[in-house]
Amino acid sequence: MSKFWSDAIRDLTPYVPGEQPKVSNIIKLNTNENPFGPSPKVTHAIHSFESNKLRKYPDPDSTSLKNTLAEYYNVNSNQVFVGNGSDEVLAHAFMAFFRQREPLLMPTITYSFYDVYCNLYNINYEHIPLGDDFSIDLTRYQRPNGGIIFANPNAPTGKALTLDAIEGLLNTNTESVVIVDEAYVDFGAQSAVSLINKYPNILVIQTFSKSRSLAGMRVGFALGNAELIEGLERVKNSFNSYPLDMLAQDTAITAIQDEQYFQETTQQIISTREWTTAQLESIGFNVVPSKTNFVFATHRYLPGAELMGFLRTHNILVRHFSRPGIENHLRITIGTPDEMSAFIDCLKKHPDISTLD
Ligand SMILES: *Cc1c(COP(=O)(O)O)cnc(C)c1O
Repeated sequence: MSKFWSDAIRDLTPYVPGEQPKVSNIIKLNTNENPFGPSPKVTHAIHSFESNKLRKYPDPDSTSLKNTLAEYYNVNSNQVFVGNGSDEVLAHAFMAFFRQREPLLMPTITYSFYDVYCNLYNINYEHIPLGDDFSIDLTRYQRPNGGIIFANPNAPTGKALTLDAIEGLLNTNTESVVIVDEAYVDFGAQSAVSLINKYPNILVIQTFSKSRSLAGMRVGFALGNAELIEGLERVKNSFNSYPLDMLAQDTAITAIQDEQYFQETTQQIISTREWTTAQLESIGFNVVPSKTNFVFATHRYLPGAELMGFLRTHNILVRHFSRPGIENHLRITIGTPDEMSAFIDCLKKHPDISTLD
């Protein structure tokens, strides 16, 4: 606390990302990073990048990247917005669409950055409870609101909604923007991108950080009606003209072009996820059915915080949230098959865990 701080920052509660340890002998299953490196074509693009180009500013509009994304998702390039990670895209969207008289609606348990943006931008919001099985019931969002946001699949639960459920919401909710945060959609859920030409108020946000193995490059994007995109551009151009550097623009384009690598790595993660789920169930965990690159699991009688501590002493990091209702759950990122075997073997060494018959 400093006397030089404005009232606005004194009252903030910033988001706390998962730990990034400085040592390397750790199995890191705590921040939903992809265990595989980016496409070999991305590696090649980085190695052949001409550093002399860096004396100039990058294209402020990321035109080639927008065109590449537009072609890939079969939309127009004026329906694409790009930003420095989807966290930045989300921040601009909160600013552009959610500062309204009525409250923003979001699930009680979802990506915890949403509350942080509400505090930053003074947005009034309401949490809508999840079902006992952590499902989102979109019929409960049919009331006056200044906007709706949820992650699909949701985080940290991993549960996905159907496209029909989202379309049902859009049919009744026509007067405010609905944001679907699809950070994990490539791991087996249905994307709502196909709805953007039909409904002018849906914005779909995705990222290169998870399924495209580029968390360190910081590239995220939004797809929606051209007028929503123009709204985002107004915020972006009032904040930073150059959110994506040259290398980020080049590598993102290259990552999209290597469809085969993308398919192979996401399929590998999906099958490792199914293997991990079955293994966890065999040693007494309940696992929420996941459509993401992580699983959300709770042991029948061992507390979540204790299990996280036990794994930590064996150099395995997983994420634990102390929020009431999920304090006994662990969010476990799906790593390589070897990492997940080591993780399961470690749990089997816990004195109170045994294999069920
Ligand atoms: C990881 C994540 C993001 C942020 O992704 P970046 O593009 O790395 O900023 C946004 N939303 C959800 C739900 C996430 O899990």
